[in-house]
Amino acid sequence: MTTLEGAVVVITGAGRGIGRAIALELGQGGAQVAINYAHSKESAEELVRWLREHGSQHALAIQADVSDATQAASLIDEAVQRLGRIDVLVNNAGINIDRSLKNLSVEDWDTVLQMDLHSYFYTVKAAVPYFAKQRSGKIINISSFVGQAGNFGQANYSAAKAGIIGFTKTAALELARSNVTVNAICPGFIETEMYQNIPDKVKEGILQRIPLRRVGTPQEVARAVLYLIVDGDYITGQTLNINGGIYM
Ligand code: NAD
Repeated sequence: MTTLEGAVVVITGAGRGIGRAIALELGQGGAQVAINYAHSKESAEELVRWLREHGSQHALAIQADVSDATQAASLIDEAVQRLGRIDVLVNNAGINIDRSLKNLSVEDWDTVLQMDLHSYFYTVKAAVPYFAKQRSGKIINISSFVGQAGNFGQANYSAAKAGIIGFTKTAALELARSNVTVNAICPGFIETEMYQNIPDKVKEGILQRIPLRRVGTPQEVARAVLYLIVDGDYITGQTLNINGGIYM
């Protein structure tokens, strides 16, 4: 794909943070963006209004809890029904429940795995028949450097994010014959609500660990997504690190 113009892109959890930045980047480039949100209808609809005036005339918002297999499949089906096709799926929605292993409950584990790993499978499974039929497609899974390096208090999150990398490689192998590429992006610390919730003292320590001495911006991750879509036809099964050097 050399141009975004007219490409239909579904982005999960796009009401804020990195997902929102991806929607803005791709929508301004002329992609028709389906914004998935779980709860924040107002901000998703406000984003859609903005996108419709700035290049994504058919942008729309679709409510779905993607950690539920049925809702994840409905999201993909509704996007195809309303926009005519699907060219790109960006799995971005994620949560974290951080506790050291001693305090991590089975429920904390299950909730995070369900959302951060299982949901990625649900949306991909629903999108594959459409991609296979049109013999093209791009899947971009937002993982994290925590899935590569581990992080204190994030056993559940790091397991899910590592799982995404393995899932990405197998999906890339299996879907290549349908001309579908599948890649993961591993952001480092990025300035979103997820990062803002970290206590200031912990943030100071984090900055010391980043060779570039700053956190990344959501736009920097969005630019990597754009790159994979527009210039990534021969890139598949890869993990693209956007992390200021915190993990090499
Ligand atoms: P965020 O909390 O600002 O946004 C996450 C979005 O996912 C929200 O809009 C939320 O409503 C949505 N979401 C959560 N559960 C959902 C569900 N069940 N169904 C649909 N949507 C749901 O977080 P962010 O920082 O923008 O993170 C986006 C992605 O990037 C996540 O996968 C996260 O793990 C990853 N990531 C973030 C950072 C960071 O430092 N911010 C670093 C590495 C990776």
